[in-house]
Amino acid sequence: PVILSIENLTAEVDGTQILNGLSLEIKAGEIHAIMGPNGSGKSTLSKVLAGHPAYTVTGGNVTYKGDNLFDLEPQDRARSGVFLAFQYPLEIPGVSNLDFLRVAYNSRQKHRGLEELDVFDFDDLIQDKLEIVKMNPAFLSRSVNEGFSGGEKKRNEILQMAILEPSLAILDETDSGLDIDALKIVANGVNQLSNQDNSMLVITHYQRLLDYIIPDFVHVMANGQILTSGGKELAHELEAKGYDWVTEAEPANV
Ligand code: ADP
Ligand code: MG
Ligand code: MG
Repeated sequence: PVILSIENLTAEVDGTQILNGLSLEIKAGEIHAIMGPNGSGKSTLSKVLAGHPAYTVTGGNVTYKGDNLFDLEPQDRARSGVFLAFQYPLEIPGVSNLDFLRVAYNSRQKHRGLEELDVFDFDDLIQDKLEIVKMNPAFLSRSVNEGFSGGEKKRNEILQMAILEPSLAILDETDSGLDIDALKIVANGVNQLSNQDNSMLVITHYQRLLDYIIPDFVHVMANGQILTSGGKELAHELEAKGYDWVTEAEPANV
């Protein structure tokens, strides 16, 4: 089944059009990577999908499991299984990571018509998930993301994903300060959590990330569009040749 379908999406921020007719289809069981040079609109795409208020959709269609994504409030997107990593890195002083995760988990369970867990049962669940991310349990009692290092935030992001079991996970690896260890944490999380029922969209300008994630499809974005798509070999081609051969092969769109 198709999880996410994007057709001819256009969007603007502050009156400037950034997405220029982007189309993409993601089916269950697939890992997709979007790569592209800085400024190509990758983060704009993820913010539009998240429903960031500064971004205005001016055309096109986006469906999630057949429904218009933009009919869902950002909160409801999360509850219905859309996971946007960067919605969660905010620091929340005074709220423990454990409590935050339990509330988010129960909200998702309720939406799925599944059992909500009390603190004790949730504790059992989370111990299993901690193994996936190799996270120190001490992080659970700390305030959400407060004072976390870049790598710890990434570990926490993958833990959130492991707990929430999204149908569609969108990871925008924007942080230019990410080191190789943090990239490996993200990659291992994506590889371990990917299954036949879910789909992953990994957005990155780091070609190295794709040394650790084996995507089913790689898309190259430039100028607010997907210029070319291929299999995992496209990532290696980009690593060897850079982006210019793709971006210069097509006439500018605007
Ligand atoms: P990427 O994530 O691929 O590096 P972004 O989506 O962050 O790209 O940015 C795409 C383009 O949108 C860039 O050219 C950027 O300068 C432009 N842009 C971002 N925010 C604004 C804004 N508030 N007003 C005008 N242009 C913007
Ligand atoms: Mg798969
Ligand atoms: Mg970006």
